[in-house]
Amino acid sequence: MPDTLVGIAKMAAEGPLLAEKRRVSYHEIASRSWIGRCSGKMRLFDWTVNPYRGCEYGCRYCYARYTHEFMELPVEEFETKIYAKLWDTAVFRRDLRRVKTGESISFGSATDCYQPAERRFGLMTSILTELERGAEGLRLFFITKSDLIARDAVRLSNLGLRNDVRVNVTITTLDAALARQTEPFAPRPDLRLRAVAELAAAGVEVGVAISPVLPRLTDTMENLDTLGAAAAGAGAKYLWAQPLFLKECAQKVFFPWLRQEYPHLEDKYRQKYERSAYLRGPYVDVLKARVERVRARYGLCSRMSSYRPPNWTGPAQMSLFEG
Ligand code: SF4
Repeated sequence: MPDTLVGIAKMAAEGPLLAEKRRVSYHEIASRSWIGRCSGKMRLFDWTVNPYRGCEYGCRYCYARYTHEFMELPVEEFETKIYAKLWDTAVFRRDLRRVKTGESISFGSATDCYQPAERRFGLMTSILTELERGAEGLRLFFITKSDLIARDAVRLSNLGLRNDVRVNVTITTLDAALARQTEPFAPRPDLRLRAVAELAAAGVEVGVAISPVLPRLTDTMENLDTLGAAAAGAGAKYLWAQPLFLKECAQKVFFPWLRQEYPHLEDKYRQKYERSAYLRGPYVDVLKARVERVRARYGLCSRMSSYRPPNWTGPAQMSLFEG
């Protein structure tokens, strides 16, 4: 290990190798905190929890690859070298006490909390145990592509009696072949949809996230409409979408993939994204209008819906989730 490494990079280099699958290796990593405060003007949440570093689903467009750069690891290893944080009940409880009534915590902003590593490490099981014990009047936002979240349907439903719990299952297309290309190691779209149905049946406030929408690949009215119909049919309450944003770390993986699979689109994407990671202007307006039409057609709300849990103990005036 080079002695120049410091902080999180040093901790990652020291993390012991726990297991090696054909494609993925698992490591443990120490962590000083479990619930991190979000900062910046653009922040959507007050706090964030990411029990793993890296995500073996390997989505071509994944923006969270920068978290491996923090550990001085190549972005390509984001999907093959997975770190599980060492669980510490006392630290989690200390962090949870710092979250004020009415504040929001997002689970899975920089990794998928229910990726396959969860079956081995069970960190979400430990987290839910602590939330059931100590969370009240909080806004809890879960996002995942994994059908494993249905394992926790009853627990999430119970947690939602006193907290604003919203579970977002990401489905970008129902075309299994396209999903296999863009999200190669994530569960099939039909499995994710079944998880939505199981969560809804357990009484969880569940929605479908079409995120990201890929220009010229998944932005057609037909794709959005098919997703809206399926989401509503599975019992989702809300639907939201977000156009692709492509930071430099994601471009390193996305552009070579695009060149190989859709070479005719490479120049168009480069023109759009090389100047800015975010799309703005008429394209975004058209997409918003399409999603609103789909919501109206299938009776779905937006993520902003003013849902109130049955035994809500937070502030009378709830601030809503963005989006
Ligand atoms: S599931 Fe999310 S965190 Fe995991 S690779 Fe895909 S976009 Fe990244």
